[in-house]
Amino acid sequence: MPDIDPKIRVLVLDPSPHFTNINYTYTSSLKKSLLAPCSPRFHALISDPNTTEIAIDTTVRTWGLFLGWLYTSQLRLDAPLWDSDRDDSKSMNDLLGLYTFAIKFEVVRLHRDVMNSFLYRFKNGWVITESTLASIENGLHYQDPLVAFAVAMVLNFMPGISFATWAKLSPRFSHTINVLNKARAEKAWSERDFVVEDAGRARELILGDWCQWHGHRTREDGTYEEPRVVEACYKETSTQMRVWKAEKAGKWLSSENRGSGFDFLMGEL
Ligand SMILES: [Zn+2]
Repeated sequence: MPDIDPKIRVLVLDPSPHFTNINYTYTSSLKKSLLAPCSPRFHALISDPNTTEIAIDTTVRTWGLFLGWLYTSQLRLDAPLWDSDRDDSKSMNDLLGLYTFAIKFEVVRLHRDVMNSFLYRFKNGWVITESTLASIENGLHYQDPLVAFAVAMVLNFMPGISFATWAKLSPRFSHTINVLNKARAEKAWSERDFVVEDAGRARELILGDWCQWHGHRTREDGTYEEPRVVEACYKETSTQMRVWKAEKAGKWLSSENRGSGFDFLMGEL
């Protein structure tokens, strides 16, 4: 009798030296019914009933965080998002890892949730560090919303970027910044491009509509092509913000003391 809720084995092909040196492949297994609906890519990979195993190129760390998110609909990081001390070492690698994972495997809601994490951090006083800027700019397509967010950051909140960092950024990115800075010098204000007179206004524009950072398709006039989808997304984003606000007001639980995606992995080793 066929299993009505079969599992899929996932081989995580971690490219980090620790894993490649010892020729180690990480195996995880979970219900197909959990994995398939979150992304068309995963759906296509596992929909064949004869498929019992797939191989995924990502780090074990990112896969663990992804599973934690998948099981709980919450991102579980090692530092709170409202940590505004400009120390990106605690959670930024994880956020960027999840962000690129979400793009690669078309996990639209995860892409949205991670983008919201950057926005929430920004709302609480954080500004991208130069090393994070270089990671974002080098790892993503130039039209990605997070790259657009980085442009808005550089223009309005990151004066005096070091030459060493500039040297790491692509000519396209530097060109965009130069063009927009020139427009600013000429007082050719453009709210759409975040070329505004003061940082306060830039902040209002960036945080005014979080859905502008989710990659929802828009028409020529700037309105959304699928207003109902955006409306639902807006509601989910508002719920997420309420959860974060409650966590900020109460006790924040790190991934260690509230359980993380790794618990799910460890049970399956
Ligand atoms: Zn949205």
